[in-house]
Amino acid sequence: MKLPTMNTLKFLGTAGARFVMIKQLRSSAGLWLSLEGRNIIVDPGPGSLVRCSSSKPRLDPTKLDAIIITHKHLDHTGDLSVMIEAMTEGGFKKRGLLFVPGDAIESDDSIVLKYLRNFPEKIEFLKEGGKYKIGDVSFETPVRHIHRVETYGLNFNVGGKNILSIITDTKYFEGIEKYYPGKTLVINVVRFEVDPNLDHLSIPEVKEIIRKAKPEKAIITHFGMKMVQAKPWEVAEKLTQELGVEVIAARDGMGVEL
Ligand SMILES: [Zn+2]
Repeated sequence: MKLPTMNTLKFLGTAGARFVMIKQLRSSAGLWLSLEGRNIIVDPGPGSLVRCSSSKPRLDPTKLDAIIITHKHLDHTGDLSVMIEAMTEGGFKKRGLLFVPGDAIESDDSIVLKYLRNFPEKIEFLKEGGKYKIGDVSFETPVRHIHRVETYGLNFNVGGKNILSIITDTKYFEGIEKYYPGKTLVINVVRFEVDPNLDHLSIPEVKEIIRKAKPEKAIITHFGMKMVQAKPWEVAEKLTQELGVEVIAARDGMGVEL
C-alpha cells in the first residue's frame, strides 16, 4: 500500500528587489517544495545553501530532485551553481533535473556555468505553455511574464489537481489571474504602491488578482523595501478582511501544507 505523502512548501526566503536582498532584511533563499516525495527548489537566491543547512528540520540539497529557475535575475539565482553541485554530489552523480528559461543559458551572460552543464541528468528549457515532469509531479509554465528577462510563473499538479500556483516577478497584465488557478496561490509582491515604470506587482494589483482568481489561500512574498516597511502581515490581514480570502504574508522559514 502506498503511504500518503505530505506535500509541503517552505519559504527559505521572502526578499524581493535589490536592497532587501543585499541588506538581507529578509532572506533571499527561494522556495523548497516537497511534492509526492520529490524535493524541488525554486529560485535559489543568495544564501540558499546556508538557509537549507540552518533550516529546522535541516534540508539536504544533495537530496534535491529538481531545480527550477523562474528567471535569471540574481535574487533568484545567486546560489544556483552551488545547488547544482549539491544536487549532483559535486558532479560525481549525474542526477536531478534543471529547468531554466532559454535566455539563462543561451545568452552571453549565461547563469549556468559551462563546467556544470553536464552535471544534471537533464536541462530543460521553460517555454510559454510548457508542461514538465518531475516523477509523479508535473508543472506548467502557462504564460511568459512581462519582465526584463525571460520569466515564467508555475502551476504544480499532483494527482491531476493544481495544488499550487506561483506568480513570480512580472508587470501586471490583464487576465493574468486566469493562468494561475491553483488551490494555494503564491504571489511575488515587490511593491506596496503601483509604479507603472517597474516590472513588478504591487498591492492594489495583487488585490485584483486574488479577487478574481479566488484561491483557497493566497500567500504574498518577495517583498521590496516599501512592502517590508508597510508590515506585510498587517497588509495581508487587511486583504483577508476586504476579500474574504485567507491571505498570509510569508515569513522566512515559514512552512505550508498544500
Ligand atoms: Zn525578483
